[in-house]
Amino acid sequence: MSQEAEREQSDRKKYEFRKVIEDLKNYEGSGTQLVSIYVPEDRQISDVQQHVTQEHSEASNIKSKQTRTAVQDALTSIKDRLRYYDTYPPENGMVLFSGAVDSGGGRTEMVTKVLESPPQPIQSFRYHCDSDFLTEPLEEMLADKGLYGLIVLDRREANVGWLKGKRIEAVKSASSLVPGKQRKGGQSAQRFARLRLEAIDNFYQEVAGMANDLFVPKRHELDGVLVGGPSPTKDEFLDGDYLHHEIQDKVLGKFDVAYTDESGLKDLVDNAEDALADAEVMKDKQVMEEFFEELNAGELATYGFEQTRENLVMGAVDRLLISEDLRKDVVTYDCPECGNTDREVIDRRKATPDHTCSDCGTELEADEDDREDAIDHLIEIAEQRGTETKFISTDFEKGEQLYNAFGGFAGLLRYDTGI
Ligand SMILES: [Zn+2]
Repeated sequence: MSQEAEREQSDRKKYEFRKVIEDLKNYEGSGTQLVSIYVPEDRQISDVQQHVTQEHSEASNIKSKQTRTAVQDALTSIKDRLRYYDTYPPENGMVLFSGAVDSGGGRTEMVTKVLESPPQPIQSFRYHCDSDFLTEPLEEMLADKGLYGLIVLDRREANVGWLKGKRIEAVKSASSLVPGKQRKGGQSAQRFARLRLEAIDNFYQEVAGMANDLFVPKRHELDGVLVGGPSPTKDEFLDGDYLHHEIQDKVLGKFDVAYTDESGLKDLVDNAEDALADAEVMKDKQVMEEFFEELNAGELATYGFEQTRENLVMGAVDRLLISEDLRKDVVTYDCPECGNTDREVIDRRKATPDHTCSDCGTELEADEDDREDAIDHLIEIAEQRGTETKFISTDFEKGEQLYNAFGGFAGLLRYDTGI
């Protein structure tokens, strides 16, 4: 799969996850009876089964009969689901949710959901039983974007690594043979200074080599590089053009950090918070700039569900732009009288409305079967037509406008269709 296709698929997956999480967050248990289990990819399914069996037997100590039954039912349901898996969970692990949730009027309803292969690997096994489902770790994953290269250095030591979403990975380190400022007796001051500069230069080259080896193969996915250290080391390092030029171009900024060991990588990320927030929406900003330019002065912009859809069907959309905050369904009405098809985009929480055929005026009754997620509907067409889908954040003005003023759907066209 191409990198672009991979990224697109993960965008779509994130959207699917976000929907499920929103549902899960709305559920409530009347007692401490909703079970969430986070399973990393390297945890054997048999281990998880064992854990669940043990929790099941411990649950027999729960005093409230209602809660006891609810917890045991949830665990039984999870055990049933685990039977579908072989030795290990799918890539990146999985999360299991199960429990009896309030469905109004004092009734409860059993809900069991399994989320496979989250966008980032699950780090550790977690068993959680509470009055709501534990969704925060997944939400954090979904909020995370980006791949950043990290370099911290002073004249003695350096570390390079990754920032993947919110996760910091230290990868390589080096320490230098740069002598201290104090020369030994008998050594000429000039010779000492020259040797010291040489050693510093060698060390910078070594650090750059280490960073280049790591970052250059990933340069197309890399969203930026952060460099940290004391002054003037980091300035000398950057000004000296030691890094590969494509990596140097991706440097988002240099930041003061006190340590240059692995903990320095964390300091670096903390201090670069603002630069990272800007970088995260940068790509969204660029594509929205392009959209507004086309809208004002060109012919290659479309917006609104129906127009965007029509252009998509024609294969005329190059990039489909969807607001990240959008939660809409679309209902399709096929008129049996005249053969006309209408569509209505409605809020996710609204009931399916009846509809008057726009062509012949026939009253059409609502049919739940003709209702689907509006975003899924468009993405499906986009995939058939080779159109790239981009989810646009609402964390900046033009992204907010896509949501508020353009109904959350827009497109950049390959050619003008006159629609
Ligand atoms: Zn009709």
